[in-house]
Amino acid sequence: MEGISREIRLVARPRGFPEEELFEVAETAIPDPAEGQVLIRNAFFSVDPYMRPRMNDVRSYVAPFTLGEAMTGGAVGRVVASRNERYGEGDWVLHYLGWREWALTDGAAVRRLDPEAAPVSTALGVLGMPGFTAWYGLFALGRPQEGDTVLVSGAAGAVGSAAGQMAAIAGCRVVGSAGSVEKLAWLRDLGFDGVFNYREQSAREALAELAPEGIDIYFDNVGGDHLEAAIGALRTYGRVVACGSISRYNDAEPSPGPRNMFLVVTKRLRIEGFIIRDHYDRFGEFVAEASAWVRDGRLRYRETVVDGIENAPKAFLGLLRGENIGKMLVKVGPDD
Ligand code: NDP
Repeated sequence: MEGISREIRLVARPRGFPEEELFEVAETAIPDPAEGQVLIRNAFFSVDPYMRPRMNDVRSYVAPFTLGEAMTGGAVGRVVASRNERYGEGDWVLHYLGWREWALTDGAAVRRLDPEAAPVSTALGVLGMPGFTAWYGLFALGRPQEGDTVLVSGAAGAVGSAAGQMAAIAGCRVVGSAGSVEKLAWLRDLGFDGVFNYREQSAREALAELAPEGIDIYFDNVGGDHLEAAIGALRTYGRVVACGSISRYNDAEPSPGPRNMFLVVTKRLRIEGFIIRDHYDRFGEFVAEASAWVRDGRLRYRETVVDGIENAPKAFLGLLRGENIGKMLVKVGPDD
């Protein structure tokens, strides 16, 4: 295929908050698919918090990004040429070769999308990995009961906004925290019962006001002070869904953990972490349920879309700074 594909490569590793200079825009020739391969024109790719730990030269639950190679991550695009019988030209697909305009794959980790059922971008957000994370974390680990009070941090993000609305669907009272006035207004509009700006008020003070009787579930996206405050506010037999710890991802040195861990014993709390990748056997169940909620308006979503692959590093760093409302996406090609 004639033409140039641009991609983003990581060229150095960060210490502390990453800089734009760690990324490079590189050009490659658009490849032709060999037997069994599929060539995809990407429309959107996802920037996600888990990509920050992958920039370090430390293996956690995922391998680090390789320096000098295109980065990877969730993407949706359209098949332009196929020599794989499972995919035809024009098919919309989800795959994991993000951070580039064109992707060449053997089709192994590719899922076909129905563009009539929902906008294709939602496969990276509310009906994709972040929505699934909210659903699995809340229902499988949080086990909400009607009347429970649920605290969600990172509540105006992709996972948090879905988790809070799902808790409301389960009949819970929902308190959410986020980092701007505009985000709090959106959370109120979504039906959150209490909201606070953690940049202006500590989680401990806010919980004393918004949940004076305590909370039953904490859906933790941020760790740090929020986690300590939640442990303090949880009622007996409360649950912490340990989903993420974004307030710590840029730490150059590990920070001390919550100082009140003995309360886990005295209040018989359960703190349970999970990695959503382990639970894809339940993805179909999630999509069916969440799609119905999206259709009937009980599960709403927003996307913050940054245009152009050259702006992908800005989008990613903006995500870490909180510039997104809902799912942060980079648009790199036509979406119709
Ligand atoms: P978001 O859309 O929530 O974007 C990240 C948000 O984090 C920002 O918008 C910002 O909002 C907030 N944030 C940044 N720094 C801080 C801070 N110091 N304290 C509090 N909030 C901060 O991202 P996702 O919805 O994709 O991910 C949310 C969490 O879920 C992350 O921790 C992520 O790692 C985790 N996750 C875990 C998965 C799993 O399998 N366990 C799978 C997917 C995600 P604000 O303006 O409010 O600060």
